[in-house]
Amino acid sequence: MPPAPPPAREEPPALLTAVVCGVCGIGGLGLLAWALASHVLEAPVRAALVAAGLALWAMASLHWQLARRAQRCQVAAEAAQQAALQASAQLSATLDILPDGLAIYDADDRLVLCNTRYREVAPGITMAVDYGTRFEDVLRRAAASGEIRDARPDLETWLAGRMERHRSPSGPEVQEVRGDRWMQLTERTLDGGGVVVLRTDITDTVHKERALKQALADAERAERRLHEAVDAMPAGLDIYDENDRLVLCNNFMANLRPHLPVQTSLGKTYEELLREGLQHGIPEEARGQEELWLAHELALRGHRPGPEVRHYPNGAWMHMHESRTPSGMTVVVRLDISDLIEQRQKAEEARQESQRMRQLLERAVEALPVSIEIFDEQDRLVLFNQQLSRMYPHMNYAEHLGKSFADILRYSVQRGLVPSANGREETWIAERLSEHGSRTSNLVQRLADGRWINIYETRTPENYVVAVRLDITDLIEQRQALEAAQDEAQQARQLLQDAIESLPEGFALFDADDRLVVCNAQYRRLYPISAPMIVPGSTFEQIARYGVERGQYLDAVGNEEAWLAQRVADHQAAIQSVLQHLTDGRWVQADERRTPQGGIAGVRTDVTQLVRKEQELAAANAKLALLSTTDGVTGIGNRRRFDDRLATEWMRCGRHGLPLTVILIDIDHFKLYNDHYGHLAGDECLRRVAQLLQATIRRADEVAARYGGEEFVLLLPDVPLPEAMTVAQRCMDNLRDAALAHPRSPTAPIITFSMGIASVVPRPEAGSDTLVQAADAALYRAKYGGRNRFEVFDPGA
Ligand code: GH3
Ligand code: MG
Ligand code: MG
Repeated sequence: MPPAPPPAREEPPALLTAVVCGVCGIGGLGLLAWALASHVLEAPVRAALVAAGLALWAMASLHWQLARRAQRCQVAAEAAQQAALQASAQLSATLDILPDGLAIYDADDRLVLCNTRYREVAPGITMAVDYGTRFEDVLRRAAASGEIRDARPDLETWLAGRMERHRSPSGPEVQEVRGDRWMQLTERTLDGGGVVVLRTDITDTVHKERALKQALADAERAERRLHEAVDAMPAGLDIYDENDRLVLCNNFMANLRPHLPVQTSLGKTYEELLREGLQHGIPEEARGQEELWLAHELALRGHRPGPEVRHYPNGAWMHMHESRTPSGMTVVVRLDISDLIEQRQKAEEARQESQRMRQLLERAVEALPVSIEIFDEQDRLVLFNQQLSRMYPHMNYAEHLGKSFADILRYSVQRGLVPSANGREETWIAERLSEHGSRTSNLVQRLADGRWINIYETRTPENYVVAVRLDITDLIEQRQALEAAQDEAQQARQLLQDAIESLPEGFALFDADDRLVVCNAQYRRLYPISAPMIVPGSTFEQIARYGVERGQYLDAVGNEEAWLAQRVADHQAAIQSVLQHLTDGRWVQADERRTPQGGIAGVRTDVTQLVRKEQELAAANAKLALLSTTDGVTGIGNRRRFDDRLATEWMRCGRHGLPLTVILIDIDHFKLYNDHYGHLAGDECLRRVAQLLQATIRRADEVAARYGGEEFVLLLPDVPLPEAMTVAQRCMDNLRDAALAHPRSPTAPIITFSMGIASVVPRPEAGSDTLVQAADAALYRAKYGGRNRFEVFDPGA
């Protein structure tokens, strides 16, 4: 549809122009006339008025001329516009013959020309757009129609992009419209501004392209599948074209030609491939005569009489089949027959092995120290070895070959060769025949010459009977000798057992592996708790552990593992006696010694009585020792105990560099006490003082003893002088507190004593008596100094 002509521009008001021009012209002329005609006016005024009148007229005249020209121009312009519109419509109609949509937009991006095809957004959908409409509005309207697929779903974004590309077009763009239609938009910027838009329907092209792509994809997939299928073949495949160039080869084949990757081998001729192989020393049989081999191979190409078997570098054996297609291609198929070849080789090896084994077996049968005879399923002798002939020298087995077992039996029985058959020949033969090959036990036969033959008969699955005969005369004689020896050994063993049992002590013999071999009943009686484990075969440790875990040994209680380890070690050493205290109170002495065979013989003696007596004796001795060092009057240690302990502590303190202190104590005026109270009261007083002194010492290594008469002594090891003075003071305080009355003492009304203290770190070269002498000197000073006091030994005094 051609565009509607633009509306006619509104004409200027010509009447008004004529009126204005007329009034001005007439006015000007009137003014001129008046000025020229008037004499009342001064000359300059008149001149001015004349000039004004002239000017007015001239203006009116000019304006009229201009207005006339303008009107003519307008008419001409309108005519030109009309002509342009017609030309445009004609151009537009002309453009409609184009198969594509075409539009031209001016520099303001307004539509100035387009054909009908351009207005068709999609088949049957035509937009009504006027010339002068902006491109963006045209676009918006086209998009709003919903026909442009690309404009959906976000219209504004699509519009923005499309406008961007429109402003600076770079290349054609493709647009999809409804109904699977495709448009190509080509935009060109014009030199003077503006854009030409060409819209070509490329649906057919797109559809064709799509179909082509699909076809290509199908072809590719088909090719891929073909390759996959070919690669999956358990055979090698090579296909050469009519020019003998390799066009297809599967992985299997590629693996057979590791020196030639598939990609490099494709396109090469058969000859080139063979040459490549030869360069790598393949095949082996061509080495040294490569050209000859190649010529032979090429001559055979296409004319092979049949399939060939080839050996490949990877060790595979292949069956090669070459064939030509009608189009001149060569198809080579290689089937892996390695398994077949291997099996054939194995079968051959097995056959050879079996033959070798058979020869070996035959030799072995001959070499056997037993005789062998074989009867077939009809009980006929079919095989025997020379041992059989040697075992029965009177029989000619070569003659008997093929004869039945019954005939052979009869032959030997009739010649009296089987003593056990004598007198009952037929019965014996019948019995022997009935059990031939079916005996469940061996048969031992005594021959007339005294030999013993052991017969083993077996029936094979083939119903053959294999009989093996062994001369066991030596064996029987040896067995008889052995039985006699065993009887003797048994008797000796019984004798030994009787001897062991008659021992009053427990006796056990362990072998080199420390397992119990034999023991007597006394041994078990001594250890009633371990008894269940005291059986031949138990190890010494098992027996001891059994007893330890059940509390048999008093010393082991609470210390089981260590005790056991020590016990086993002592047992293994087998040197010294071990005294065991059992839970039931008994004492057992274990004496063990190694036997020449590496075993251990052990004797156990119940020494309970002995130990008890020893213990009693020791207790009596201890008591005696205590008594001999105890003062009879006071009950505390006597001079002897003091001397013994002094000697001991002198050494000990000397060894450790410790101080040793002695305090000598003498009761003051004791003679007067005796005189006053009598000797018995004096003894009592001595006892009180002794108890008091005994109570003063606190440590176990300190000694309070009666030194003699009314003198006492304290021995204080590891007590330095200041501490000793404290002890002395404590003694004096305690005595004072006891307040033993002594009315006749010149010193005090109660018993007092004087003390001398001496302390020294003993030196080995000095004697212990020096210490006592020092204390005595100090005591002397205490007496001399007025009694009832203590003095410390002063070496300078
Ligand atoms: P001094 O203060 O100088 O030690 O005067 P003293 O009388 O204690 O000393 P002296 O050596 O003159 O006398 C010791 C007395 O001790 C003489 C003796 O009768 C008495 N005596 C010694 N042994 C015993 C004893 O076993 N029993 C009794 N009752 N008296 C004894
Ligand atoms: Mg005295
Ligand atoms: Mg005295």
